[in-house]
Amino acid sequence: MTELWAKAPDFSRLRNPELHGKCGACEYRRVCGGCRARPLAAGGGLMDADDLCGYQPRAQAVVEPAVKLAEVAPAWSADARQRLSRVPEFLRQMVRKRAEAYVSELGEDMITCQHLSELTAARFGAAKPSRFASARMPASRPMTEKP
Ligand code: SF4
Repeated sequence: MTELWAKAPDFSRLRNPELHGKCGACEYRRVCGGCRARPLAAGGGLMDADDLCGYQPRAQAVVEPAVKLAEVAPAWSADARQRLSRVPEFLRQMVRKRAEAYVSELGEDMITCQHLSELTAARFGAAKPSRFASARMPASRPMTEKP
């Protein structure tokens, strides 16, 4: 499912829309963009104008969103989130921030296990840890054993 979100051409177009018609000329296209389903349902294209909108663009400067998309932290795929949960707690926040910065720098909006693997390889190379905690921690002593 993550691959579908990241690679499907229509989702890519929706993330970086090049709108046609009056939506493409509208100063509110970055904060509104019109409904993308309506032109499709009417037999047009995904990027066609939303004909039910009554606003007439006025050829003014484009209004930018109050929060730029680049400032919004990328989402985590379910498997990447699960992998992050296995990172020791004292490191988790650092790994989270590093992954979010890395994926934002790539201009992508979804953190996947592939991204985490790339970061691990860049950090550790061939000496990457297979498991942070269980492989390095000594086995705990059974409760019945005397110290
Ligand atoms: S024309 Fe209407 S629907 Fe299209 S971007 Fe402008 S305000 Fe939104």
